[in-house]
Amino acid sequence: MLESPPQILQEVFGYGEFRGEQGEIIDHVLAGGDALVLMPTGAGKSLCYQVPAIARHRESGGVTIVVSPLIALMHDQVAALHENGVEAAFLNSALSPEQFAETRRRLLAGELTLLYAAPERVTHIDFLVDLATLHDAGLLAGFAIDEAHCVSQWGHDFRPEYTGLSVLHERFPDVPRIALTATADELTREEIAKHLDLGGARRFVSSFDRPNIHYCVVEKREAKRQLLNFIRDGHDGEAGIVYCLSRRKVEETAKWLNENGIVALPYHAGLDANVRRRHQDRFLREDGVVMTATIAFGMGIDKPDVRFVAHLDLPKNIEGYYQETGRAGRDGDPADAWMAYGLQDVVLQRNMLEGSEAGERHKQVLRGKLDALLALCESTTCRRVQLLAYFGEHSAPCGNCDNCVNPPETWDAGEAARKLLSCIYRCDQNFGSGHVFDVLRGKQTEKVERFGHDRLSTFGIGADLSEQQWRAVLRQLIASGMVRTDPDHYNVLRLAGDWREFITSEQPLPLRHAAVATRAPRAAKSTATEDLGPLDAEGEELFERLRAWRREQAEERDVPAYVIFGNATLHEIALKRPATLAALAEVKGVGDAKLENFGEQVLELVVAPAATVE
Ligand code: ADP
Ligand code: ZN
Repeated sequence: MLESPPQILQEVFGYGEFRGEQGEIIDHVLAGGDALVLMPTGAGKSLCYQVPAIARHRESGGVTIVVSPLIALMHDQVAALHENGVEAAFLNSALSPEQFAETRRRLLAGELTLLYAAPERVTHIDFLVDLATLHDAGLLAGFAIDEAHCVSQWGHDFRPEYTGLSVLHERFPDVPRIALTATADELTREEIAKHLDLGGARRFVSSFDRPNIHYCVVEKREAKRQLLNFIRDGHDGEAGIVYCLSRRKVEETAKWLNENGIVALPYHAGLDANVRRRHQDRFLREDGVVMTATIAFGMGIDKPDVRFVAHLDLPKNIEGYYQETGRAGRDGDPADAWMAYGLQDVVLQRNMLEGSEAGERHKQVLRGKLDALLALCESTTCRRVQLLAYFGEHSAPCGNCDNCVNPPETWDAGEAARKLLSCIYRCDQNFGSGHVFDVLRGKQTEKVERFGHDRLSTFGIGADLSEQQWRAVLRQLIASGMVRTDPDHYNVLRLAGDWREFITSEQPLPLRHAAVATRAPRAAKSTATEDLGPLDAEGEELFERLRAWRREQAEERDVPAYVIFGNATLHEIALKRPATLAALAEVKGVGDAKLENFGEQVLELVVAPAATVE
């Protein structure tokens, strides 16, 4: 008899109820259906395939194959399953030949509930033969394809090997498949369905909102100084990720933070693999390490208590931004997504795009995506509304983003924009921004005189605005595609897009007044521990003791701390102070295996006298 999913949820994972659509998805998969699951980070995708896998295994000894793109991800998932008493393993290049052979033996013997492997392994002919053997023996329970957006070549994590995964369906059409991702605009969704042959799969689309994340975009001035202030102002000693575009900037930023007393480690593809692994381990296992990184870092980072994600450079598109910022606050506690954004970012991204080798059709797609991101940055209204709209969701102003908390004052830059466009035109589209601003502001520079630009009708017509204001106007025009910079000609400004229509119109162009770039007070929104209420002094003290104990356990077992117990679980223990194993079992996140392994120790910690100092 198939064990019921709620039973497994309680017994193995220690949770009392399913979240969102988890229950429905699990029932669908257990009934043999294919599923395409779109859920934001932290919503609980893993359980959607782990619970059916456990149910199937208990029923028939079958194994579920999980396709996962990263070794680190497999490692942590398997460690977490072990702590919950589930037989899981991974096959990847990190295994010795002996370990590999042993895992394969266990697989074929039907001992495993879940097997994690990379796409290139899964589609390898030797592995397909093993799968066929399992299938013939009735031991192939299902396929789960994690991070399914890797199949999309428009996305930021494209993995060519993912496109080969349709072979699973061709060879084993009767084995149910579930594909999962935290990122998917309409285009990516279609790509997943197409390339993975999941056209007939039922789609489960959860809300993409991450209510506990506070979004904020500041105007870039002295980016590193702004970053430091942002970290000191509310994130001192907390774990966070800082994204930069180049390796050099990653190194510089890490150095600067360390010089200023913040523990930061660099991570990028140019570092030795051992160094990368060491830094990643420290980030995962220690409290309060800041990782400065290129986008090479992050996919599959399951660390639940990342309190902020900062962007010092513009990401490529909204999917990238959403995915990267989504690594903050998986535990549901308040977290910050902070970005410094300036004219240079716009110019750089536009130039990279136009200068790339991509074909015109591809570029068209990329342009659309960049435009959407720029519109998000320039927005003077709720960021979340815009972000969710991009994923096809309607929502009301959120009250938890910079624009909601501190509505920006705007001014109409329509007239100024028209002056700027016409000045670029008068300068024969042959000069960079500095010179054009000089002409507008009526500055008698040597260059202005040399080209006789003081005789232009646009000379001095913009003296009322500061250079910084002009930069903001230009940024907006580049963002909206009416001005392009030419990277092959000293970044001279050229007119483009709908500039003619705009210049003869009276269209307004709302621009924010340069905001004071500090963190506005914000409504702390929590989706997790808040419901439980705060701890008193004694509770705090117990929480710290539990945390110290957890750190020891994690080190001893060589797993990340959250694999032992999450913060929410420790919080609940500190609050409820369970006195018996039965009471402890009621706490969320305490399943049978953990109760058996850690129960007595936790109870001892709870009853221990608060101070044993002589
Ligand atoms: P995702 O893969 O979607 O980012 P995870 O599967 O890692 O999210 O789950 C995020 C966190 O939520 C994990 O700590 C997980 O144990 C917890 N979680 C998942 N489902 C539930 C549930 N039904 N009740 C309580 N906690 C849950
Ligand atoms: Zn908002």
